[in-house]
Amino acid sequence: MPVAGGKCPNCGAPVEFRSGSSLTKVCDHCGQFVVRTDRGLDNLGRFADVAATEHSLVRGDRGTLGGRGFEVLGHLVLRHPMGGTWEDYHLRFDDGSWSWVSTAQGRWQEVAITRERFARSFDAVRVGDHLHLGAYGEFVVEEASSGTFASAAGELPFVARPGEKMAFLDLSGPDGARASVHFVGGHDARMVFVGRAIARADLHLEGRVGDAPVQAVATASIKCRNCGGDLPARLDPNALHVVCPYCNAIADSATHAIIAQQDAARASPWIPLGTQGTLQGVRWTVIGYVERSSVIEGERFRWKEYLLYHRDAGYRWIIEDEGVWRLGTPVAAADVDAAPLPRGVRYGQYYFALRNGSEAVVDRVLGEFYWRVAVGERVAARDYACGPRVLSSEESGTERNWTLADPISERDLFSALGLPAPSVPAAYSAPFRDAGSSSDGSIPTAVWVVVAVFVLMLLVAYDSCDSDSGSSGLGGGHGSVGVFGGFGGK
Ligand SMILES: [Zn+2]
Ligand SMILES: [Zn+2]
Repeated sequence: MPVAGGKCPNCGAPVEFRSGSSLTKVCDHCGQFVVRTDRGLDNLGRFADVAATEHSLVRGDRGTLGGRGFEVLGHLVLRHPMGGTWEDYHLRFDDGSWSWVSTAQGRWQEVAITRERFARSFDAVRVGDHLHLGAYGEFVVEEASSGTFASAAGELPFVARPGEKMAFLDLSGPDGARASVHFVGGHDARMVFVGRAIARADLHLEGRVGDAPVQAVATASIKCRNCGGDLPARLDPNALHVVCPYCNAIADSATHAIIAQQDAARASPWIPLGTQGTLQGVRWTVIGYVERSSVIEGERFRWKEYLLYHRDAGYRWIIEDEGVWRLGTPVAAADVDAAPLPRGVRYGQYYFALRNGSEAVVDRVLGEFYWRVAVGERVAARDYACGPRVLSSEESGTERNWTLADPISERDLFSALGLPAPSVPAAYSAPFRDAGSSSDGSIPTAVWVVVAVFVLMLLVAYDSCDSDSGSSGLGGGHGSVGVFGGFGGK
């Protein structure tokens, strides 16, 4: 039932608002974006039509979130300055309250407007700052950036002029809490939203309004503009850059224009692009491969990262650093206790000691990426180690990402991916093969001693990262790990 309405100032058709929280709406008849004012309806201009992706919600969709029924009233798409877009939804619950649900990079969050007053100006806030949001507790700024209102559908709870920029802060807080601060209308008005991270499955969509108008993702092959070879169909509909498998040219996935050329790979990846495998209960597809390096104390160290994609679960990384494999998962900044800095940080009950800080640079890329990846791209990276676990921060000025990389055995990893494991490094296999060659097939005492000493060393390493005494433990390798580029969980 409409709560307010009037005639469209452009076409005269009736415009009805279904929620008291809605201030603006796209006219169903002419597509003009109109705003409620004291005098009636004003025209704000025209948005591009929303081009939904396969994970998009559609205006009119119904579901339940935390046991409360809702309907999707509006859909807003913003363009990020680093490339790519994120999507916001205006949800009206059956009890009349409303929420703002956002998704980017496969991460979802639900936040609600609060009465918090935010005194600081956007320019006075830095990534990594700790901010108190009243009763909601202390939050950490993960991103301070801006978005351009690109397209919209349905009803929205604030005034968003087509093409206008909105500065925002993206924050993480205690116990999975998330917050956003929107600086609207030339930064004068600040809207403070607080909520939590959710999974798309938490929305329990029931009544879906027909099929989402999925944007045209190239399913047929397209030709590389550099070499004429067939570029493979995209695996991730959000991919912005795709690399030609024949000539290594980097192309814009929308326009197919060649962005950059690069040399051939040093070595072909152990894990072929397109490989699928189940890790931590999610069926991932390997869509990208990056070789990165950094210079530490005059020496250049190289490592490799594989980008994993799943429609609902987002992105993860497999990192290979000098024969050690790790699985990288994003970590909320608020979950990292920075009090022991600069010597280390705490995460959960563990102390991670600073292992190195460097500038990590992208040397080579293959596959497809959700950000505008560029060879030569640099981020400030810091690694903190607790035994074989590595917690990394990467900072680009407007954004700081934390990634936890947990070791995974090569055998488990490659068996999950349905691939033969790479050959065992000679350094590990040789002594055992020699020592184990006794005729009766039993394992000689010398081997047990070696194993026992190794286990003891591991235990010591784990133990020491449990306190602030500080030890970098046995963490092998030098590379920074994890997520870089792109943008945080807006
Ligand atoms: Zn109209
Ligand atoms: Zn090519």
